[in-house]
Amino acid sequence: MKNTDFDTDVVVVGCGPTGATLANLLALGGVRVLILEREDEIYPLPRAVHFDDEIMRVFQTIGISEKLKEMVQINSGMRFVDKENNILLDWPRPKEIGRHGWYPSYRFHQPDLETLLREKLHTIDTVDMKFGTEVLSVTSNKLYAEVFFNDRSSGLSTSVRSKYVVGCDGANSIIRSVIGEEKHDCGFQERWLVADVLLKEELPELGDRTIQHCSNTRPITYCGQPKNRRRWEIRLLDEESELEFTKPSKVWSILKKWINPKVAELERTAVYTFRSMVSKKWMKGRLFIAGDAAHLMPPFMGQGMCAGIRDVANLAWKLVAEIKNQAEAGLLDTYESERVPHVQKYIDTAIKLGGLINATDPTNAFESSKKNTKNGTTMKSLYPELGIGLGSFLGSNLKKHRGLIASQPRLSKNQLMDDLSGYKSVFISRSPIKRLLANISELPFLCIDTIAEPRLNQFLDDLSVEAVLIRPDRYILGTAKSFDEQEALISIRY
Ligand SMILES: Cc1cc2nc3c(=O)[nH]c(=O)nc-3n(C[C@H](O)[C@H](O)[C@H](O)COP(=O)(O)OP(=O)(O)OC[C@H]3O[C@@H](n4cnc5c(N)ncnc54)[C@H](O)[C@@H]3O)c2cc1C
Repeated sequence: MKNTDFDTDVVVVGCGPTGATLANLLALGGVRVLILEREDEIYPLPRAVHFDDEIMRVFQTIGISEKLKEMVQINSGMRFVDKENNILLDWPRPKEIGRHGWYPSYRFHQPDLETLLREKLHTIDTVDMKFGTEVLSVTSNKLYAEVFFNDRSSGLSTSVRSKYVVGCDGANSIIRSVIGEEKHDCGFQERWLVADVLLKEELPELGDRTIQHCSNTRPITYCGQPKNRRRWEIRLLDEESELEFTKPSKVWSILKKWINPKVAELERTAVYTFRSMVSKKWMKGRLFIAGDAAHLMPPFMGQGMCAGIRDVANLAWKLVAEIKNQAEAGLLDTYESERVPHVQKYIDTAIKLGGLINATDPTNAFESSKKNTKNGTTMKSLYPELGIGLGSFLGSNLKKHRGLIASQPRLSKNQLMDDLSGYKSVFISRSPIKRLLANISELPFLCIDTIAEPRLNQFLDDLSVEAVLIRPDRYILGTAKSFDEQEALISIRY
């Protein structure tokens, strides 16, 4: 099939945060994208309220971080307390710029983020978006994928052909059902009421930390959001009916400890069933899934959406390389193998935290926690290693740090490193690049040496290496200590 026979390069099904981020990244890589989204409007009510510094880097890559940072609140962390307010577990998030060049943790309003992502997409010629279109089915063969969809206002059905289809179509994904419905249920299922309220006046006594009120009868989460929006999440007991529980009188009776209708208004209430699952298959031929379509986790770490953004950061550049005929065989297969164990770490931790919230037992609440007898246990943020994939089979020296996210230092003129490398792989070395490239005609990545950017010396010192190769999703592919190892590293193709 000729390139011109395809209607587009990639069809993205669903324009939630996962789909909209993917489309932005694909467009950065110069491929054509069609987004098919069932709803006419953005889902108007808040779901996610937190994302972290790694995710802000993806937004930086896309080019929305400057606007986004005006809309967020810097988060100072989360505390798990018992009925007497004793701290069982503390997860402090310093209000200082961290090693990724951003604050470690942000609070935000999900519709604000989705609006920014879509506004950006509207400015890109190679992205076409169809709202109010429901994907009904998809087929795939060796040559192309075909997506069948319905225009909900006219009722007309049509289809498009593309090289790849990515289902970012949420928990009930139609693309997942075509790939194969099998899911690994990680065992968590609880009903929680989510109540978003708008404060009518300042209530500083609520504090700016997220508080998990642990209890084996009525666990409750409190968290702030930008401006005057605040959230409480309250677990329903098995015998409690959703209808009864969402009545304003019931909600106010639970919240009266903190607020009342004089000082706040209920913006909305909804009962969600928090689940945990990972799809066993994330890809089949030309079809892929990402985000909630591929995995679900309870929101106690604020990582469900973040995990979806990590999925598409991993997948997008691989799809770009494949579409531009620049990929080595098997590159796309590394998407599933790298992402599944990574997201599983977050799911497992979120479930453990769920156990603590429900049972008030801090023992083994978090694997990287430190015992601190005065103030409970302290938890650190997770930065797990990718599963088996690119670089896994390099020699032991070269694969040191492989699969870990690289940090992002500020360079000369205060530039952030990702802004210098752009949406490309980057090779950073202490050796003069001219010398390294003496026998190489062309490299598919950007090369920077510490002669041009002396601040990168500290970055290499922190890794205890002479050179590092970083992928476009900012994960480390490999490192080198000697000149020979550096030559081996830059000859890797993927
Ligand atoms: C109460 C709550 C709190 C949360 N808190 C956090 C948090 O603090 N941090 C965090 O990271 N995550 C959090 N999450 C999780 C986060 O909200 C989700 O992980 C995230 O919204 C998933 O994004 P997505 O784009 O993958 O899926 P969705 O947002 O569900 O988007 C899927 C899109 O696909 C469209 N679609 C579906 N089927 C079709 C079809 N057949 N044809 C066309 N379009 C289709 C839908 O209309 C929708 O727009 C929370 C979730 C909840 C419920």
